[in-house]
Amino acid sequence: MPGRLTGIPAAPGIARGPVWRYRPRGAAGVPVVAVSSRGEAELRIRRAAAAAAAQLQALAQRLCDLDHPGDAEILEAQALMAIDPAIVEEAVRLARSGLDPVEAVLASAETSAEALASLDDALLAARAADVRDVAVRVVRALSGAHLELPMVPSVAVADDIPPSLLAEMPPGLLLGVALAGGSPTAHVAILARSLGLPAVVAVEALLDAVHGASEIAIDGETGAIFVDPDSAELQALADRQAIRGDRDRAATALRGTPAATADGQRVVLLANIRSADDATRALEAGADGVGLFRTEYLFMRRQSAPTEADQTSEYRRAMEAFGPGRPVVIRMADIGGDKPIPYLGRPEEPNPFLGVRAIRLGHESRELLLTQLRAIWRAAGLAGVTPYVMAPMVATIADARLLIELRDEAREAVVASGAECPDRMVTGVMIEVPSAAILAPELARLVDFFSIGTNDLTQYVLAADRGNPSLAGLQDALHPAVLRTIATVVAGADAAGIPVAACGELAGDPAGALVLVGLGVDELSAEPRLLDGIRAALADVTGGQVRELAARALAATDAETVRAYAREILDAKG
Ligand code: PEP
Ligand code: MG
Repeated sequence: MPGRLTGIPAAPGIARGPVWRYRPRGAAGVPVVAVSSRGEAELRIRRAAAAAAAQLQALAQRLCDLDHPGDAEILEAQALMAIDPAIVEEAVRLARSGLDPVEAVLASAETSAEALASLDDALLAARAADVRDVAVRVVRALSGAHLELPMVPSVAVADDIPPSLLAEMPPGLLLGVALAGGSPTAHVAILARSLGLPAVVAVEALLDAVHGASEIAIDGETGAIFVDPDSAELQALADRQAIRGDRDRAATALRGTPAATADGQRVVLLANIRSADDATRALEAGADGVGLFRTEYLFMRRQSAPTEADQTSEYRRAMEAFGPGRPVVIRMADIGGDKPIPYLGRPEEPNPFLGVRAIRLGHESRELLLTQLRAIWRAAGLAGVTPYVMAPMVATIADARLLIELRDEAREAVVASGAECPDRMVTGVMIEVPSAAILAPELARLVDFFSIGTNDLTQYVLAADRGNPSLAGLQDALHPAVLRTIATVVAGADAAGIPVAACGELAGDPAGALVLVGLGVDELSAEPRLLDGIRAALADVTGGQVRELAARALAATDAETVRAYAREILDAKG
């Protein structure tokens, strides 16, 4: 069904409602703040900066409470920007030299934002937008102005929207988001998905189209936008929503049954988690175990590394949730890349994604990894289960050997301490670096399993920074170059007789799941909320169909073609 306008789908769902045109308030029209002395101006700027930081921290907490701690970091970073000494001191200096406090804050923030934007780097340009957003919040605190809110539940329409605005909207007031700019990887899109708000971004001509319009309908799954929709369009959207509702209900009904293709080919369905609390949600979602425990989140948002005892208790809880017989794969902390840990005191790197990340840290900081491995041994001993571990960012045989050596050294220490300790730890490596894929036959002889990290594998195969919105088009793991790499990994694993899992976002996308199973991947690991959709997609196809799909995908030369092949199968099943 063609929309009147089309953008990029950024958060699923259909929203329909009045247009709420959001316009960021720039310097123009900002109220002047009357102050009696320069000392007072300084005091008010400092107080406003602190108030803005506190508001942003509170919003971050709200996201944590909603179970989106990763997304909360976006707002925590903004809270730090609000009290960034470089920006605050420059604003104070300008105010002391006689500028109105509001002007001083905006000018100071603008200098920082322009410096970031001029670096000609899309990621830093996005940070510039965050700095401007923070400045407007500080100004609001200074002038006592209120946040402008829609009067009735509405769909927000804008060029761009600050992520913090989305987080602070009273629940129910925002029905969806349509943006002329933005990208699916932008912070605002990530938050929209977390908050369950349908969103479409990068909609050309959107702002002209909504001029004078009263209503808008958006489809966050197809990217279709209807401005002042007519009754036929509304009916079509309602029909589509009903079909999706049926699809979701059918998928929910399968929960609790083992995932398998229509002809009985069993697929192990695992969950990606970030904490022991997530393990309970994974169980409720019908996961057969945990395929990826992203333990670096235990190291983030704190002043020092978690102790061995802290880690032991967290891993033990996750293991006990699933009990013996169901794996909980603990991924060694994937520190570095886009997840720096300031208290480790590592030097800044010009290219962190190509730097000392994850297992590479073990070559220089053995104790960090040894502590984690001792905690895994201890936790498994206490929970009475066999532990599973895997290392991220493995690029060489030496990396895999390092993991094995540290694992064994950690066990000796735990046994020497007299603690209960299992005999073995099922040990795997993540395949997310092309060199590891090329070395798959040799690596497979060293370890017990592979887990393909399709997010990083895509970034490294296509040389496209996974966080760079300008390269969104290259960040599709269905690209045949990535799929051919996966096929070589499966062949290497098969020759050695070890299983292969996939735990990147591709595994949670029904189209991706079909292709991966067709390529011979044995286990899929995804966010718990995605497991129903994968299970339902698999139940509708035969092993022969997905193998044929994989063969066609391998012969293709771009991701769009592969996606279209997968859609043919998914749509045929309704
Ligand atoms: C991946 O790279 O696909 C993966 C699962 O690891 P992360 O997304 O945590 O880097
Ligand atoms: Mg990764």
